[in-house]
Amino acid sequence: MSQENKKPSSSKRPIRFNPFWLYAILLVFIFVPSLFGSFFSTPDISWLSFKTTMLDTHDVEKIVIINKETAEIYIKTDRLADSKYEQINKSKLRISSAPHYSLRIGSPESFEHKMELAQEHFKEDELVEVFYENRTSIVNLLSWVFPILLLLFFWMMLFKRTGKGGVGPGSILNFGKSTAKLASRDVKSKVTFKDVAGLEEAKIEIMEIVDFLKHPETYTKLGAKIPKGVMLVGPPGTGKTLLARAVAGEAQVPFFSLSGSEFVEMFVGVGASRVRDLFKQAKEKAPSIIFIDEIDAIGRARGKVNAVHSNDERENTLNQLLTELDGFGTNTGVIVLSATNRADILDKALLRPGRFDRHIYLELPTKQEREAIFKVHLKPVIKGNDVDVPLLASLTPGFSGADIANMCNEAALIAARKARKHVTQDNFMQARDRIVGGLERKGKLISPKEKKIVAYHEAGHAVVSWYLDNVESLVKVSIIPRGKSLGAAWYLPEEHQIITKPQFTDRICAALGGRAAEEVVFDEISSGALDDLEKVTKQAYSMVAYYGLDKEIGPLSFYDSTGENERLLGKPYSEYLGKRIDEEVIELITSEYERAKTLLGIYRSQLEELAQLLLKQEVADEKDLERILGKRPNNTVPV
Ligand code: ADP
Repeated sequence: MSQENKKPSSSKRPIRFNPFWLYAILLVFIFVPSLFGSFFSTPDISWLSFKTTMLDTHDVEKIVIINKETAEIYIKTDRLADSKYEQINKSKLRISSAPHYSLRIGSPESFEHKMELAQEHFKEDELVEVFYENRTSIVNLLSWVFPILLLLFFWMMLFKRTGKGGVGPGSILNFGKSTAKLASRDVKSKVTFKDVAGLEEAKIEIMEIVDFLKHPETYTKLGAKIPKGVMLVGPPGTGKTLLARAVAGEAQVPFFSLSGSEFVEMFVGVGASRVRDLFKQAKEKAPSIIFIDEIDAIGRARGKVNAVHSNDERENTLNQLLTELDGFGTNTGVIVLSATNRADILDKALLRPGRFDRHIYLELPTKQEREAIFKVHLKPVIKGNDVDVPLLASLTPGFSGADIANMCNEAALIAARKARKHVTQDNFMQARDRIVGGLERKGKLISPKEKKIVAYHEAGHAVVSWYLDNVESLVKVSIIPRGKSLGAAWYLPEEHQIITKPQFTDRICAALGGRAAEEVVFDEISSGALDDLEKVTKQAYSMVAYYGLDKEIGPLSFYDSTGENERLLGKPYSEYLGKRIDEEVIELITSEYERAKTLLGIYRSQLEELAQLLLKQEVADEKDLERILGKRPNNTVPV
């Protein structure tokens, strides 16, 4: 080995294989022979000139027929001096043993025949010898090797795409491998319980689980079994994922997180194999936590959907998950956390003791909790002095943690757009309206007639709901187009766990107030009540068929929490009962519509005044409403 090789200079970078080299080599292989081929190529001649200038003059030494296609003509050396071969003698690059001319022949038979005729009066020793040869030229070889290489190349590219370079979890060879992301103790999750506001009970429950993992002996000593699975259940945006991430931050044990849909691929058997792999990895790193988000993607009840929609692959995955949950003992030190907002559709087998036997329910935050969540999300926001956090919390009932986070961000964006120094209470209110009602579209063109209809429609909602006892308080009416709607009445939702029958009927009546106002005022109805009517119809059907609130139908419910009825094509009740349900719904809605019209008849002057105000200033707030409609009566329903 030379000295140089022993000591590679530091400036020299190691030569790494680059796939583009392959193409370069290929190109060289393809082009070089043809390049040189044309360089050394033998001149082509026609049969006629061959016969007259060479064959008839006895210049030809021999003929070699290549691949039954081309005749290579060799001229006798002593004849080359002739002036007609001047061209050949000039080409210095010629290889001495190479043929002098080439001639394309139709077929060897016809060529031989022609030769025979041409040499008819030749003497025996003057006849030209014809040889046959088969040759494989490099160009020919490449012409079939190249397509194969090209195919191989595309194949490689395809795998690269699916496999992120052929080594990632998505690669073809790793399809069955789990795609779980591991947040190990070295890579600490930045989220801790401090970032999760409210949810006190859930936090206590989940902290216990962290404790199981850290000190299992305390529990097992007394004969207790450590739970294997914990299911976080709650509406979207209530902080399930956040809580799980906080567990990762607090537990200081390896944390595998993935989403339920990641198990499902287009290939059969992949899901099950990923589950196996995930549990294997988790067991190797025990004590550890597995977090499966949106578990309903795989945990949906088996065999409960239409045969058309059935998904065997999902069922296999679920079966494997159940087996794995059964398979590891309580002392393995692996706890599976999962989250869903559709606990009702989950397979019962998944929820039975020994599997996901602990359920933590997260609900929409209460006022106090909302206040705490606001405080967490307001931390990075530069807020004005007028921002009243308790007021914000009380003005956002029904908001989830995610909505609150979004509102804080939206308010900051609004303030930034207006180039303010800080975010004011007003900005927060605008953000709330935007989240609830959609984007304001002041530029939307509405004809004066349409505007008038919208004003009376919204005023109708306002007047009817104002005088009904069981409707949430009205805070604002606006006829500024927002999102898809042309106007809106804003209520302050109260937090109810149950809704009484009078609340239902009053809400239906208030929702019909808009359409009723159109009829009362213009004696003409429009398509503008679509949203209201949709809501009302759904509510009326759920009152009658789900909540058993109808006198005639009685306390029957056709609600199906198990999802079993999804399989049935028909309705779970008889045709006769179906007809009666329809009749009752129609009766309920018509009577509420009449009630709304009666109310508007009584308060017609207030309706006019409010509509005119809306036409003038587009928005009427609580003060305007009180001025026009009087103080809201909260105990008597006049109709
Ligand atoms: P999901 O329940 O749908 O999994 P997430 O946990 O993803 O909801 O919550 C979405 C976002 O909402 C979080 O990233 C966080 O910003 C905010 N959030 C939800 N709940 C809370 C909470 N209790 N405290 C603070 N932020 C919350």
